[in-house]
Amino acid sequence: MAKVKRIGVLTSGGDAPGMNAAIRAVTRTAVYNHLEVIGICQGYQGMIDANFKPLLSQSVSDIIQRGGTILKTARCEEFRTQEGRLKAYNNLKEAQIDGVVVIGGDGSFTGARLFNEEFDIPFVGIPGTIDNDIYGTDYTIGYDTALNTVVEAVDKIRDTASAHNRMFFVEVMGAEAGFIALYSGIATGAEAIIIPEIKEEARSIKSLIKAGNIRKKSSNIIIVAEGDKGGGAFAIAEQVKDDFKEFDVRVSVLGHLQRGGSPSAIDRVNASRLGHAAVEALLDDQKSVMVGIMNGEITLVPFRRAVKLHKDVNHNLVELARILSV
Ligand code: ATP
Repeated sequence: MAKVKRIGVLTSGGDAPGMNAAIRAVTRTAVYNHLEVIGICQGYQGMIDANFKPLLSQSVSDIIQRGGTILKTARCEEFRTQEGRLKAYNNLKEAQIDGVVVIGGDGSFTGARLFNEEFDIPFVGIPGTIDNDIYGTDYTIGYDTALNTVVEAVDKIRDTASAHNRMFFVEVMGAEAGFIALYSGIATGAEAIIIPEIKEEARSIKSLIKAGNIRKKSSNIIIVAEGDKGGGAFAIAEQVKDDFKEFDVRVSVLGHLQRGGSPSAIDRVNASRLGHAAVEALLDDQKSVMVGIMNGEITLVPFRRAVKLHKDVNHNLVELARILSV
């Protein structure tokens, strides 16, 4: 007989399309297993403020296709302190919540890991971040949608760049990781991709563009991950523009539109799988673990590893992008 009878679910950190699909899957899997579900609003802040609301099967109707998160999300400084986490624990106890599913990124999992070292209510994580930068899973909720949003935008920029002989520096999200930049760069045939993982890329940017220029390309698109050490797209454009006077150099920062929109089919399906797996993990008495997807299969990864270890981009893909941009 499982010990867990009433679970809480929250979204924490940056929002990502598909979080609602995960909330729905958590709720419906819990209902299927005769568990009660409490929605914890506004991330860990809601845990500290006892901002709770019961979720029934019908509470999560008609949300699988919606971006954002019906539970809202937040960044919460107080949860970083032991006193804050104690308040959260007392509120969970009071509400008789005996297991929690946290949908968020590595910061959220760090908080969850600390909580599970201090208190006896198990936390299980679901990777939800558009950056796809969490170790132990090939996939994070929201990444596929964000990637498709970027590709659609860059295709449009390419049309106008070709029409005017322009060189565009397009800045995409990825504060510490170049997954969105690398994949969108390959998918849009970008002439160069600048990501934090590849330090020499910024230095070779001029030669990459010159190689394209010799072939008389009518446009050049350079994708820049916002976290690149060389600065954002504006700084990099400034560094190279004098060398390419034949081009009209422009910068486009895609910004927050990358976080919004209806989740892709992939995000909906994977969020559904992960939501289901997280509840199953709680029923199996797991704690302090993240559910992930590796090689198409559900995996369990201790928070400690998911947070500590670095997930690198595939360097074969970096090479592929170089070869295909000549
Ligand atoms: P994203 O990848 O989208 O930024 P994230 O989960 O990494 O998501 P953070 O802002 O880093 O986002 O963390 C979310 C929340 O997790 C924080 O506001 C805080 O409440 C909690 N948290 C983060 N780091 C810690 C920590 N070291 N100790 C305790 N709690 C933490």
